Amino acid sequence: MSGIEAHLRELIALEGPVTIERYMSLCLQHYYATRDPLGARGDFTTAPEISQIFGELLGLWAAEVWMAMGSPSQCRLIELGPGRGTLMADALRAAKVLPAFKAALSVHFIETSPTLRERQRAALAPSGVAVFWHDRVEDAPAGPAIIFANEFFDALPVRQYIATERGWCERLVGLSDAGLTFGLSAEPERTLTQAPHRLGDVLEIPTASIGIAGTLARRLSSDGGAALFIDYGYWGPAFGDTLQALHRHAYVDPLHEPGEADLTTHVDFHWLAKAGIDGGASFHGPVTQAAFLTALGIETRARSLKQRATEQQAADIDSAVRRLTEPGEKGMGELFKVLALSHPDLEAVPGLPKGRFSKAES
Ligand code: SAH
Repeated sequence: MSGIEAHLRELIALEGPVTIERYMSLCLQHYYATRDPLGARGDFTTAPEISQIFGELLGLWAAEVWMAMGSPSQCRLIELGPGRGTLMADALRAAKVLPAFKAALSVHFIETSPTLRERQRAALAPSGVAVFWHDRVEDAPAGPAIIFANEFFDALPVRQYIATERGWCERLVGLSDAGLTFGLSAEPERTLTQAPHRLGDVLEIPTASIGIAGTLARRLSSDGGAALFIDYGYWGPAFGDTLQALHRHAYVDPLHEPGEADLTTHVDFHWLAKAGIDGGASFHGPVTQAAFLTALGIETRARSLKQRATEQQAADIDSAVRRLTEPGEKGMGELFKVLALSHPDLEAVPGLPKGRFSKAES
């Protein structure tokens, strides 16, 4: 039994079943603190690890946003959950095309994992830009900022509620003779007003993500700047259980070997947009990752890289671009969505149309 499973069993035996949110939170803390989860030998791979073009295009996106902000002489480049630091390293290399932009930057990583902080330090060393680490978004210093979060929100805990005859009951993790098992709260949550389509519907509320998006929005609306969120997910509201566990690139039971698999949910971007509006920011998008990267010129960048490449390298570039933009199961192009929040004065950000809620959604 893994160390965290023994701890969970003890906790449940003592205090009773825990919420999905608490379960995810305990598992994820252990998971991220004890490994580098990325790459072929880890549990999953992300866009910046697939191609340098991803981070480069985001660096150019940031440069354009910085100009639209009025080219402030100091700008914080903040990244939430930067993994191996690859996205930021590629973005800073691309930022060289605008020396005044690069000179204005300091990098602020929001990262809880000591293992990954070390990898990030090594990845950013050649950039020559000052890098700072913080545990929480609130700890990053004030001032104009451009913020990235790629595959960050999917890694935050959510609450889940199931439609029963009694109303919305919270999904819990309890203990049976067979081990950890899903359960339901006895009392319904009466503050939820959503009407389910049918009994058994699952409502996911990303409380942690809503909190963080709200904090970012308040910061952007007072100090200026924009935040770019990229993740797999959808534009809700919608019902469904999207909790999943990945171990060595394969799906496993989320209750199996707690703390050893990557636990995630699909991101409902409408919550992030709503938190943005409530915090005084505007939102842009969402669009698919394919549409976003195409608008930023992924094809042109790939062509220019291929001019200096061997035949094998050129084939690798083509296959990476396909993986980032293709629809369906194999590609990330359609499953992944892109949303930005910004100071309300930023009328447009590259690659994303101005976002709007329909009457029914707001
Ligand atoms: N953005 C990277 C890595 C995604 S994995 C990429 O695209 O490759 C998720 C990242 O979020 C990891 O760096 C992990 O350590 C970090 N993370 C997870 N939960 C966090 C939390 N609550 N606060 C800060 N960072 C967190």
